[in-house]
Amino acid sequence: MKKYDVCVIKGDGIGPEIIEEAIKVLDAVSHKFNFELNFDYRLMGGAAIDIMGVPLPDETLNAAKSSDAVLFGAIGGAKWDGLPRELRPESGLLKIRKELGAFANLRPAMIFDELINASTLKPEIIKGVDIMVVRELTGGIYFGQPRVKNEKDALNTMCYNATEIERVAKVAFEAALLRNKKITLVDKANVLETSQLWREVVSELAKNYAGINLEFMYVDNAAMQLVRAPAQFDVILTENLFGDILSDEASMICGSIGLLPSASIGGKVGIYEPIHGSAPDIAGQGIANPIATILSAAMMLKYAFGENEAAAAIESAVRAVLRDGYRTKDIAQYDAKEICSTAEIGSIIADYAAKA
Ligand code: NAD
Repeated sequence: MKKYDVCVIKGDGIGPEIIEEAIKVLDAVSHKFNFELNFDYRLMGGAAIDIMGVPLPDETLNAAKSSDAVLFGAIGGAKWDGLPRELRPESGLLKIRKELGAFANLRPAMIFDELINASTLKPEIIKGVDIMVVRELTGGIYFGQPRVKNEKDALNTMCYNATEIERVAKVAFEAALLRNKKITLVDKANVLETSQLWREVVSELAKNYAGINLEFMYVDNAAMQLVRAPAQFDVILTENLFGDILSDEASMICGSIGLLPSASIGGKVGIYEPIHGSAPDIAGQGIANPIATILSAAMMLKYAFGENEAAAAIESAVRAVLRDGYRTKDIAQYDAKEICSTAEIGSIIADYAAKA
């Protein structure tokens, strides 16, 4: 029987609640499709700061590096906001991504037909939307040096080199080959030198991918087009900061931030996590939507282990559960037959996946 080691990081806020449901669903499909998952639970973020004094303890990083994949909930909360930057929960997340070489963040944003009324956009605008945002994750202004903060001035630096751009662009081209064969490179090439380099490198790479339609779009226009006519996009390729903002925008088209998964890949070990944060405002109430984390677990099965059938079983279970009217509170107003707690909907999805 095939065995996979998964480093599980629950994190803070709703992290533990949503991870528990993803584990339930993974257990269900691993039995059904005959593979074994070993879960190794580790601390990161505020939970690690409280117990070990740092947001990313060495033992967590080492466990992640020696695993086959990392399944992660979310980190952060007001309790740790006053700490110096390097001791805050977010620093742990930035460091683990960098250390694992997870330079490409894949964020699918698709419409669940059953939830078409959950979007703030009109159904005719969003019908059929299926976007994959490929965001560069370990470079750009989040990591650029120097960085300075004084009392009256501050400095951040956006740096990219051709190697960083080319490797993430390859991920986008490969993704586009399996989809609708269109890439939109989003940048600010009319103003930024880094964006001009992105255009040069991506245009050069495009010569190896004859079947792919590559277009360029300024980020301000892309932000507008995403709400005007989102169905025009297939793969959106962009740098770290623009990708952070646009992928959150794209996610809202789908109705709730609690629905969408992500995969951060590129190195030997990938990180699979929902796109939302630790939602401290609803933590501990049993109302968080675990679907984003459950679908992140499905991405892990597909990208890290090649367990495509099991991944597909999870995806169809989620669709079927939504079709049958089960809803968590965040999406409760849309054609709900039954309002479920986090644990209830997790169990229902696990049951459906086991029978899929
Ligand atoms: P957030 O994504 O945690 O929450 C935004 C809003 O969406 C909140 O109203 C929340 O209740 C809701 N929400 C989020 N996930 C949900 C879910 N699964 N089900 C139902 N509702 C959900 O963003 P925020 O409030 O800006 O940040 C809260 C904390 O999370 C901060 O400390 C921030 O730094 C951290 N954060 C962490 C990550 C991460 O771990 N990857 C990402 C973003 C923010």
